[in-house]
Amino acid sequence: MHDVVIVGAGPAGLTAGMYCARAGRKTLVLGNIYGSQQSMGGLYENYPGFPDGIQGIELSERMLQQAKKFGAENQPENASKVVSLGNLFRIKTESWQYEARALILAMGSSHRKLGVPGEEKYAGKGVSYCVHCDGALFKGKAVAVVGRGNGVARGGLYLANLAEKVHLLNTETKLSAESTYIDRLKGLSNVAVVNGADVTGINGDDLVLGVEFNVGGTPRSVKVSGVFVEIGMKPNVELAQDLGVELTQGGFVKVNRLNQETNILGVFAAGDITGGRMQVTTAVGSGASAAISANQYISSHA
Ligand SMILES: Cc1cc2nc3c(=O)[nH]c(=O)nc-3n(C[C@H](O)[C@H](O)[C@H](O)COP(=O)(O)OP(=O)(O)OC[C@H]3O[C@@H](n4cnc5c(N)ncnc54)[C@H](O)[C@@H]3O)c2cc1C
Repeated sequence: MHDVVIVGAGPAGLTAGMYCARAGRKTLVLGNIYGSQQSMGGLYENYPGFPDGIQGIELSERMLQQAKKFGAENQPENASKVVSLGNLFRIKTESWQYEARALILAMGSSHRKLGVPGEEKYAGKGVSYCVHCDGALFKGKAVAVVGRGNGVARGGLYLANLAEKVHLLNTETKLSAESTYIDRLKGLSNVAVVNGADVTGINGDDLVLGVEFNVGGTPRSVKVSGVFVEIGMKPNVELAQDLGVELTQGGFVKVNRLNQETNILGVFAAGDITGGRMQVTTAVGSGASAAISANQYISSHA
């Protein structure tokens, strides 16, 4: 029996774990730190305290180390079901089950898919959702990165250091990324930006050979070995929904922003799963707030 089980080992969950353990609560963080967006995000230049930036994987490892230092446990497995048993919660994983007096949901988000022919067939055979994980496989080759906003811009910048040519297929009619990214892209001779690209398919033999798209109704294609998809994230809310947690109209977990409470007593949520400004700093802040609330809840229901 734990005081608090936290589902999710990204910055929100790890911060919550550190706060709960430091408050003397028996705390378990479920989830794999290497599966978090934080670990997949590459270099973080806007997390305070690191003027030269910090790699996401290092930040995750440091956060876990700090939570463990205060006594938090981590099991790098996924929760598959959560049920309420009145005044406690049972959390099932593939191999075990745990019970807790309070629950913090911090499952983050997952990559959205394009939903075009070839995407599923070539996943892992040229189609990727993580430039930092797979970019090096395309050293000296031509690649496409599909998406919008900061995601596609950052993806293009990272790949430009590795690939011979980067076709940046912007799904919007104008690139809407931060100006610092746009300025850096403009200085790169191996990046070609196509605005208003509507991807219709990914082709190949055993591996990816090209990507097809329309621009203003005109069909076009480029020959590439890799297609990186950067079209945003969707919150991992399935467990929360099964438990009866209320969602917002946008499909995020609905919380009271003052204390991260959900509609279910004893259940709190933090980080990207709750929507809003989806950043590491905000995930850390809401993780701390959820932990303080869970701690108060346990004290008042002793
Ligand atoms: C490519 C990229 C670049 C980014 N760049 C920046 C940036 O420069 N600056 C910035 O501030 N933010 C950036 N972000 C966003 C930032 O990484 C996220 O906002 C932040 O990581 C959200 O934290 P989180 O804890 O809510 O979720 P996540 O980091 O996604 O962590 C969620 C955790 O939950 C786990 N999980 C999911 N389901 C289950 C389950 N059923 N059971 C157990 N565990 C589960 C996952 O394995 C993971 O460990 C970037 C994101 C990406 C993808």
